[in-house]
Amino acid sequence: MLAAAALVLASVGVLAYGLGSPQATLLGPALVRGEDPAEVALTFDDGPTVPYTGQVLDVLRAHGVKATFFLCGSAAELHPELVRRIRDEGHEIGNHTWSHPWLHLMSREAIASEIDRTQDVLERITGTRPVWFRPPYGVRWFPLAGILRERGMRMMMWSDRGYDGRLDAPGIVSTTLAQLHPGAIVLLHDGFEAKAPALVDRSATVAALPGIIEGARRAGYRFPPSARQDNATSPPWTSASHRDYPVPEDPRRPHDHHDATHRRTLRDGARPARDDRRGGDRLAAAGRGGG
Ligand SMILES: [Zn+2]
Repeated sequence: MLAAAALVLASVGVLAYGLGSPQATLLGPALVRGEDPAEVALTFDDGPTVPYTGQVLDVLRAHGVKATFFLCGSAAELHPELVRRIRDEGHEIGNHTWSHPWLHLMSREAIASEIDRTQDVLERITGTRPVWFRPPYGVRWFPLAGILRERGMRMMMWSDRGYDGRLDAPGIVSTTLAQLHPGAIVLLHDGFEAKAPALVDRSATVAALPGIIEGARRAGYRFPPSARQDNATSPPWTSASHRDYPVPEDPRRPHDHHDATHRRTLRDGARPARDDRRGGDRLAAAGRGGG
């Protein structure tokens, strides 16, 4: 009886971890960190919005940094000029669903529709269907991995988040830099859950961005030189041989010949301490607007 109850509790715990933790791969493979330990990557979710996406792009351009923007289809449809600017300035574009719903408990058809409508509008605007997908709030659900596999898409989560939306600009800078590590994928926002521009204030993110970029460079990290090196097949910091993402090699891309020593160094030397990750999860549970 007691054992059965413990088993149920453990199952609920494992499921909650699998659904919500950015590092979990229980519900399908996900990229959580880049392979090059010298690089860190910036990602921006929930846009595009006015005026923040343009302001983020201005800062990135001034600092010579390329990033990935996970766009919501409904927002992209309202601001195609911003989507084109993201593309024209050499950034990567990912799919962040049409309306930013919680995916858990949604039907396979409903999840697929959120993804496909967004792929359609982004292709209409940019001429390219994105490869990368990030679920809203980082929450996955059972059909998601199969839906992405069918479409040749890949899931990208994050390993470092600025808690923008909760912190002021100095807080976003210090929180992001405190979590920074080799191959970090940093989560920031240029929108807010695909909400109307009047409901969005990302001025703190914009104000924090120069400090994040300068701090990362002071710590010895580079940003990926070009996020669209291979016409949106995958950003250069994410080789298809990434240990968390055992997908077949992309035939359009030469095989990545990282040697085993390099990978072992990354695995043993560059992974965040377990306690750090738990701390992040605690913060994630307390935060809002994640992913
Ligand atoms: Zn989001």
